[in-house]
Amino acid sequence: MEALVGLGPVAGDAMSLQAESWQIARSSHACGGCARKFVDKEEYFAALYPQGEGFGRRDFCVPCWSAEGRPDAFSYWKARAPESAPRKQDQRRALMDFFERVMSPREGEEARPKLAYLFALILMQKRALRLVEQAEGEGGTVLVLERAADGKVFRVVDPRIVDSEIDGLRLEMSALFATPLGG
Ligand SMILES: [Zn+2]
Repeated sequence: MEALVGLGPVAGDAMSLQAESWQIARSSHACGGCARKFVDKEEYFAALYPQGEGFGRRDFCVPCWSAEGRPDAFSYWKARAPESAPRKQDQRRALMDFFERVMSPREGEEARPKLAYLFALILMQKRALRLVEQAEGEGGTVLVLERAADGKVFRVVDPRIVDSEIDGLRLEMSALFATPLGG
C-alpha cells in the first residue's frame, strides 16, 4: 500500500530519523482511498495498520472512510488538515485508544508488550494513567495502572527493554501520530 507511512528499523542518528519520519508523515496528506489532497481545515480519519513488526498509517477523507468503515484498521482517530499538533484532549484520547487496543490483542494477533509498556509510560506522563503499584509476577515486574477518567485497571508487564529501544519506538510512534510523544 503506497499511502502507508513506513516504519523502518531504528538505527543510527536519532535526530535524522525523526526528521525523516516527520517528512514522510507530512507528505501523506491525501486520502488513501480516492487520492484527493485534503483541503485546509478538512476533517479526515487517520488510521494505523499493522505492517511487519510495526505499523503503517493511512489517512482517509470522511466519505471514503464512511463508505468502507475500515474495519481492518488497528486504531484510528479524527484529524484535521493541515496536520498540526492536535488538541491535548484529542491527542490523549487517540493515544489511550491505541493503548487499549494494544492491551487487547484479537484472535491471531501477536501481543506487543514493548508497545504496551511504551504507551503506559507516555500516558502516565500525560497523567491519563496513574501507577497504583509495581508488583512482581511470574513474568517479571508488572505495572498496575489505573485510568484517571474511569478507574479502569490495566496490568502492563515491564518488558525490560533498554532505553534506546524505547526511544526508537517513541520516535516511530511520534511520526505516526504526527505529534511529539515526550521523552
Ligand atoms: Zn477519499
